Amino acid sequence: MGTWTEIADRVFVGRYRFLDQDIVAVLGRDSALVVDTRSTPRQARELLDDLRELGAPRVGIVINTHGHWDHAFGNALFRPAVIWGHERCATMIRELGEERRAEVAAKLPDLAPDLAEVVLDPPDRTFARETVIELEGRRIELGYLGRGHTDNDIIIGIPDADVLCAGDLLENGAPPSFGDAYPLDWPVTVRALAALVGPRTMVVPGHGDPAGRAFVSDSLADLEAVAALGRRVHDRELTVDEAMEVAPFPARSAREALERTLAQLRGELAQLRGELDAG
Ligand SMILES: [Zn+2]
Repeated sequence: MGTWTEIADRVFVGRYRFLDQDIVAVLGRDSALVVDTRSTPRQARELLDDLRELGAPRVGIVINTHGHWDHAFGNALFRPAVIWGHERCATMIRELGEERRAEVAAKLPDLAPDLAEVVLDPPDRTFARETVIELEGRRIELGYLGRGHTDNDIIIGIPDADVLCAGDLLENGAPPSFGDAYPLDWPVTVRALAALVGPRTMVVPGHGDPAGRAFVSDSLADLEAVAALGRRVHDRELTVDEAMEVAPFPARSAREALERTLAQLRGELAQLRGELDAG
C-alpha cells in the first residue's frame, strides 16, 4: 500500500516502497488523472485500490512520463481511460516492451510471474513537443524538453497548483538511471526544466521525495559534471577509472553514466537510433 500526501489542492503524491516510486493523482469531481501506472497488473491494482481509499473518482486520464516498465506496464488496468505520452513513449513500449519484460524478469525473478501478466498498452494520445489537456476545466500542460533519461521523457505542469512532474529526468535520493539515457542532452533538458521552476514550485521526481529548486539545480550540476567528465575521457585527458573517482555518483552508476556518455560521443547512440528507424 502506498501513502498519499496532498501537495497542492486536489493534487496527491502516492509514495511506493518498490523502487521508491512517486505516482501523482489529480482529483476532479467525476474523474481523476494519474501520472504513471507502476510495473505490473498487481501493482496497478494496488494503486487503483489506494485511489479508491483516497476517495478518488474513476480514472479518466493517464499520463506516462516515459516508456519505462516501472512507469507504464500497469497501463492496461486503467482502461477505458485515455493514455497520454510522448510519441516515442508509445514507440518504446511497442518496440522494446517485450525485451524489457524479459530483461526485468531475469533481473528480478520475484517479479517474473507478475510481469508475465502485463498487457503492453502504449499511450493512444501522443504528441511531439507540447500539448494542453484539461481535467474538468483544470489546465494540465504536457511538454517535451529534449532527450535525457530516455528519448521520450515529458514533464507535466499543473500551473494553478505550481506543481511540476519531472518523471525520471530527476531522481531524489538515488542516482539517475543512464541505461537508455542521452547524457550529453540530459543537462540541456534539465536546464530547460529548471527555467520553469519557481521559488515555490513543487517538483515531483519519478523516484524519491518531492522537492524544490535547490534539488533541481543540484541534479543539474551532477548531470553536467558527468557529461564534462565523459568529454574529458573521450579526449584522453582522463581514464574511465580516474573519471569515476571524481564523478558525483557511486561506482556502478558512475561507470554506466560514463560509458553511455562515451557511446554518445562516439556517435553510437545516434547510429542505433538510425538503425531502429530504418527497421
Ligand atoms: Zn525510467
